[in-house]
Amino acid sequence: MTYSLAPLPYALDAFEPTISEQTMHFHYHKHHQGYVDKLNELIAAHPRASMPLEELILSSSGSLFNMAAQVWNHDFFWKCLTPEKGQLPSIHLGQMIDQKWGDLKNFQAAFSAQAINHFGSGWTWLVLKNDGLEILSTPNAHSPVIMHAKALLTLDLWEHAYYLDFKNDKAAFIKSYWELVNWDFVAHRLDA
Ligand code: MN
Repeated sequence: MTYSLAPLPYALDAFEPTISEQTMHFHYHKHHQGYVDKLNELIAAHPRASMPLEELILSSSGSLFNMAAQVWNHDFFWKCLTPEKGQLPSIHLGQMIDQKWGDLKNFQAAFSAQAINHFGSGWTWLVLKNDGLEILSTPNAHSPVIMHAKALLTLDLWEHAYYLDFKNDKAAFIKSYWELVNWDFVAHRLDA
């Protein structure tokens, strides 16, 4: 068995002009595909080759962990975005956000602050942990899969996610992210 690149749920130019087709091309066809290819190289002739991706992540370390986790993280990240404008959190999710952060704006400010302050490559996440919502950031390939937390939403903070479009202005990238969030997917994860 080999792992494969999950289909992108929209066209490469779906987020123009915020995220350019060029960024999407490199991010999906070069970086994400690269993680899949390297994972398949590492897993060839490996006894764990037939494991579901999440099990492989939980039972591996080093390069194998990094590649498997980056494939999972990217599969998840693409689902968190949508070209459909104007989505909002579901009633259930909205209530949980209000309970923890007061309102959606405060939640977005808290998530954005974590993302801006994350040093180096990594990810910022909204997760469900012990029945409550939490914002957390993970370095490099790390993700909630190894933290007994259920990922609901993520933002890729690797420079390859924004540098062609935003250069060093990470804050502008994070601000524009909120226009692209697929709240229907987040709600689906919460209630799944
Ligand atoms: Mn990435």
